[in-house]
Amino acid sequence: MSWELRFPKQLLDKVVARKYQNIPLPPGAVVCEYIWIDGTGEELRSKAKTLHYQPKQAEDCPVWDFDGSGTKQAGGSNSDMYLFPVAIFDDPFRGRPNKLVLCEVYAYNRKPTGSNKRHSCADAMNQCLEEGPWFGVEQDYMLIDHDGYPYGWPKGGYPGPEGQYYCAVGTGKIFGRDVSEAHYRACLYAGIKVSGFNSNVMPGQWGFQIGPCEGVSVGDHLWVARYIVHRVAEDFGLSVSFDPKPVTGDWSGAGAHTNFSCLSMRQNNGISFIEKAIGRLSANHERHIKAYDPREGKDNTRRLTGLNKTSHIQDFSAGVANRGASIRIPRHIVAVGRGYFQDRRPASNCDPYSVAEYLARTCLLQE
Ligand code: ADP
Repeated sequence: MSWELRFPKQLLDKVVARKYQNIPLPPGAVVCEYIWIDGTGEELRSKAKTLHYQPKQAEDCPVWDFDGSGTKQAGGSNSDMYLFPVAIFDDPFRGRPNKLVLCEVYAYNRKPTGSNKRHSCADAMNQCLEEGPWFGVEQDYMLIDHDGYPYGWPKGGYPGPEGQYYCAVGTGKIFGRDVSEAHYRACLYAGIKVSGFNSNVMPGQWGFQIGPCEGVSVGDHLWVARYIVHRVAEDFGLSVSFDPKPVTGDWSGAGAHTNFSCLSMRQNNGISFIEKAIGRLSANHERHIKAYDPREGKDNTRRLTGLNKTSHIQDFSAGVANRGASIRIPRHIVAVGRGYFQDRRPASNCDPYSVAEYLARTCLLQE
């Protein structure tokens, strides 16, 4: 057996890379990985910058720029874009004191670009501060092999039907646990509010939960958690798909179920405000569907079919413990009479800033 076969090149590369990762940085140097959402509204980009001091908060990191013509964010003639740091986390790849720095993107005229959904989300959140909106997102994703095939699936064929993979244990049922486990630890190290993870309904599909987070920060934590899972998967020679229907046919889709509450819902008898909010959502179904994937509902058309524990994209429904409804009120929330509800419509590739923004605008600001 050749060395190459016994020791895949991917792993060999990592052993060599470790030698260089262990080179100490000069005293006082901090490497900041600036991260931003590109012009697609669903892909992430990043580049590194050396600082010679320790940033304590996002505002301590300088505004930077990049070439927007390489990120689907600008034409070639006026392509300088600005990166405004908005949230910092510890870098689990380079280790402390290095940082991951999430940025908002602004055009040359200092206006937010089209895929900068954080700006208007923050605006909405600032208008309902006294209601303290909280969000928790359950992010589904699919591991993809180097050949573009779902990870763990027999090449050119299909695995056994769903029913044996969700929260499963054992060879033949679990594919890629190392990736998910590494991602979870890396998120905790970074300071991401990740509350759990589990294997999902399709083989090779996983999910993790972010939150509860207040206001715009849910998007900051979720986007950086997405960045981290892409980076971890790279190390395993795999990639991550956030496509809401990664495999066509009778296979589950992938969502970003979003749990939402505000002060009036969390107080005694908050259930009556939850019902009021659901009434408002029912009157605004179409605009929510438009905001819940990067293609104004086109992606969700493939996923929200009314099958595989989804509601149909054209219908709005709400129900207690009903996983086939647009909105689910968990049974334990009805029992205590207060808490939160779950919006099951957001696609796995949604922008959480848009989801949070529209929940706040419809349910709280009544716009
Ligand atoms: P369960 O396991 O019964 O579904 P959890 O307490 O684990 O309930 O919470 C599920 C999700 O709901 C998590 O993503 C969490 O962040 C979110 N969540 C919990 N409480 C709230 C709340 N008051 N407001 C918004 N989201 C919440």
